[in-house]
Amino acid sequence: MVEFFAMKYHIQTLGCQMNTADSQRLASELEKLGIESAASPVDADVLVLNTCVVRQHAEDKALGWLHRVSHLKKHHRPDVIVGLMGCLVGVKGNAKVQAAFPAVDVFMAPSEPEPMVQHLLEREGLALDEQSTQNRYALQDADLVLPFHEQRNLVSTHVPVVYGCSHACAFCIIPFRRGIERSRPVGEIAAEVRALVTQGVKEITLLGQIVDRYGYDVPDGPNLEQLLHVVHEIDGLERIRFLTSHPSYMTDELLDTVAELPKVTPHIEVPVQAGDDEVLANMKRGYVAEDYRRLVDRIRERMPSGSIACDIIVGFPGESSEQFQRTYDLLAELKLDKVHIAKYSPRPGTVSERRMQDNVPVEEKERRHSTLDEMQARVQAGINRYYLGRTVEVLVEDNHKGKWRGRTDTNKLVFFDDPTDRNGQLVKVEITQTGPWSMQAQLHTHLADSIPEAIPIHAIA
Ligand code: SAH
Repeated sequence: MVEFFAMKYHIQTLGCQMNTADSQRLASELEKLGIESAASPVDADVLVLNTCVVRQHAEDKALGWLHRVSHLKKHHRPDVIVGLMGCLVGVKGNAKVQAAFPAVDVFMAPSEPEPMVQHLLEREGLALDEQSTQNRYALQDADLVLPFHEQRNLVSTHVPVVYGCSHACAFCIIPFRRGIERSRPVGEIAAEVRALVTQGVKEITLLGQIVDRYGYDVPDGPNLEQLLHVVHEIDGLERIRFLTSHPSYMTDELLDTVAELPKVTPHIEVPVQAGDDEVLANMKRGYVAEDYRRLVDRIRERMPSGSIACDIIVGFPGESSEQFQRTYDLLAELKLDKVHIAKYSPRPGTVSERRMQDNVPVEEKERRHSTLDEMQARVQAGINRYYLGRTVEVLVEDNHKGKWRGRTDTNKLVFFDDPTDRNGQLVKVEITQTGPWSMQAQLHTHLADSIPEAIPIHAIA
């Protein structure tokens, strides 16, 4: 371990949970070099932006940052080391961005912090020790990794299990930027989770663009059920989540495993994207609305009081008002626990950008977005109201403005007051107030330990 870099770093992360995980990995690598986390970007010697390009809006944010940092480096801080990571860089590199922003010293593809480590070592006249790097990335030893987590005292964190994606949905740029699907070996994942648990982590979320395809790229490889079983054995780990699933790969065996293993939470994130079959076909999703309906039934048969979240794109090329109405009706019927709604944004190189016209006007996309949003807020308020007066188990993740903040196994956000340090604890609380996005609660110290048998929430919402 090299321990002589008297420097500080600051990483800003845009986009998805995979980026959060990638940023944490980079932070760990920097901390192994003795570089400390800076409280604010102003104090940092190494400035990194981890980027997202899933929609134009995210890309614009990254470009804004690049302009600001270029100005900073040119006029005020010529010494600052600038790193750009993630999907704006992509697995193939981005010559255009590279030419436009010479202020960037290091470009890092998604999930690949090595170029920054290499750059810093070379600056100090040091060679990257191949052997030790390989060992570090193999993550075979609990004490080799992740000082970052120790510092942050994280209770819940993410572990990538499948990199890239080979699915090619018509709208999606991710396969171009993150490369083909690559599953990580079970042993490597288990070692990483064990390392995290020894550092105080209680909950992990296994990540993949299509996480239910875990292992499909490896001949005779293990599948997600097998991975869940292995991770479930790890002592000290309290909860296991996984996302994002694709409806076509959610087998009964996988759902049975989720229902069966106590540490695996009864919460499924499975995007439907649209409720109209023609739109789904144009999106190249590979299923029809009725398949999704049946999937929701199959989930609820096994986990009657579980929760389901999904993603929707409104204003996909050619989406008519009637087709949009089918999405609305599907969501109104299914009453899901959470819906992430996005307005379609054409992404360079994707099938929908090359072959279809982005012909739903911005105001109409806006209107469809808010129509769904309002309906979904009512659905969520109804579901959450069901929790009122009930006792639930919450894993406390942190303190937010003086209140303890945690989640139920169904991924509902809960806040409560208590003078004792509850961070990282699984506590029972009684829900005293609910809204569409979160709930307030009171810590249970006097009531019986058992949580009453749950009734299917969606049935009464
Ligand atoms: N792998 C996941 C999606 C990951 S991207 C899946 O199989 O569905 C996260 C979400 O961003 C997607 O679910 C989609 O709703 C949204 N998204 C992706 N590309 C988009 C685009 N071009 N315009 C608008 N939203 C998009």
